Amino acid sequence: MGTEFANKFLVTITKELKVLAVEERFLVYLGLKKLNTFEQIVFPEDLTRLRELIEDISKERQDFTCFRVKGKNKKYNWVSAHIESLKTSDQQNVIRLGINDIQGLEEDISESDHDAMTGVYNKQTIMRKAHILAAKRPYEDFCFCIMDIDNFKSVNDVYGHMRGDEVIIDVAHAIQNAVEGTGIVGRFGGDEFMVLLEHVGDEQTARYYLQAMRAAAEELYAGAKDGLTVTVTIGAVLFPAQAHNYEELFHVADKMLYIGKMKGRNRYIIYTPDIHGNVLNNDKVSDASYRKSVRNKIKMMSGLLERLLHGDTVTVREIMRDAVCYYNLDGMYLFYDGDDTSVYGMVHEDGNEDSAEFETMDMDALYAENIERYFNENGIAILDFHEMKRDYCCGIYDYMEERQIRYMIICRIEKAKRPGHIVYVNRRENSRKFADSDVTDLTYISKILEVVAEKEQQLN
Ligand code: GH3
Ligand code: MG
Repeated sequence: MGTEFANKFLVTITKELKVLAVEERFLVYLGLKKLNTFEQIVFPEDLTRLRELIEDISKERQDFTCFRVKGKNKKYNWVSAHIESLKTSDQQNVIRLGINDIQGLEEDISESDHDAMTGVYNKQTIMRKAHILAAKRPYEDFCFCIMDIDNFKSVNDVYGHMRGDEVIIDVAHAIQNAVEGTGIVGRFGGDEFMVLLEHVGDEQTARYYLQAMRAAAEELYAGAKDGLTVTVTIGAVLFPAQAHNYEELFHVADKMLYIGKMKGRNRYIIYTPDIHGNVLNNDKVSDASYRKSVRNKIKMMSGLLERLLHGDTVTVREIMRDAVCYYNLDGMYLFYDGDDTSVYGMVHEDGNEDSAEFETMDMDALYAENIERYFNENGIAILDFHEMKRDYCCGIYDYMEERQIRYMIICRIEKAKRPGHIVYVNRRENSRKFADSDVTDLTYISKILEVVAEKEQQLN
């Protein structure tokens, strides 16, 4: 989940807290011209703990904590810090800190940050809340949970998408009621939720709430006339006992969710080191979320091909919704030449049709001479904002800059009657480059979209 030091203030200090190197941006943040020692800025009560941690760090190599620093406004602000012990080229031991202002982050949360469909928090907000809770270590303890509806695809397939939507909404409300007063609930993706059980630091209390959530979902439709049954699987981990930061929490809970699914679903699994071992140090291939995402992509592609081959109707919207969901895209648009507004659009958030968003793009920019060099022989351009230069391709560069898009894939529609472009965008700070295999898949998806869109146009 993102590189540890991305977008943080970097400071290098000695074990005695003397400052060796500091970014100008951090000085601006502190309202200082010069910073000699951390004793100058850290809240006295937090200083002892920071010293102890830095003393220990030579053994552990890295850790994560938070403390208060005196800011520009002369008030103390909470910051989180990723701390690492390094050796310089002349064999000196130094401490490097990546500092994040969490006060600003906390104040940023507004009550409007809710998922439109279910009314629980949306992904960004629940993630932020989790980050803040995790950063305030050791002052907070909580139980971090990821919950996913079981076999939800078949609910959609058997009862239709509208009913599927109702199920997501009902489950969200049932879970929220089950953890009322203790839990913060957010919708993380299609049928996936994140739940933070505040001040729940022991396993027994955690089990009580996890069981309540599991049962609440199961009871929702118990005895439904149409035979609908709904269950959920939950992966959970205790903080700070079993994980040290947000990345670890997510990783471990996701793994527990995966184990729960493998064990037959309709259950919760709390991470217990004696049983589950050191899941954090396993390699990438056995990483649950990685495996799940590979599994999902294969499911989506094979499902799509199967439906096309059987002549079943597939809509542009459905393809886009699944592609955005499974390939973790921030947005996807279809443009026809000569029309600067997209004909179809889909943005991430909750992956449902209501979130379709129409975009505008200056189509001439896509035909500017300098952009040509980015397209390969298959009509695909893979753009990485960091590697682009404004002079080369100003139209596209400005488009990406304005919308803070980091990575973009553009596929040309050439063979269809209405030529145009299919555009995939990722703007997240911590988004990775598109993997080669994803580029290949998205190329196929684009080719399929060309055909499906053309059919839809003919019908309309
Ligand atoms: P598993 O038990 O392994 O979780 O199986 P699953 O079928 O639930 O698989 P998965 O969680 O990967 O599937 C989620 C599905 O949810 C895929 C997607 O088509 C659907 N979906 C995503 N967002 C929405 C939505 O807003 N409404 C509806 N009706 N379906 C959605
Ligand atoms: Mg599911």
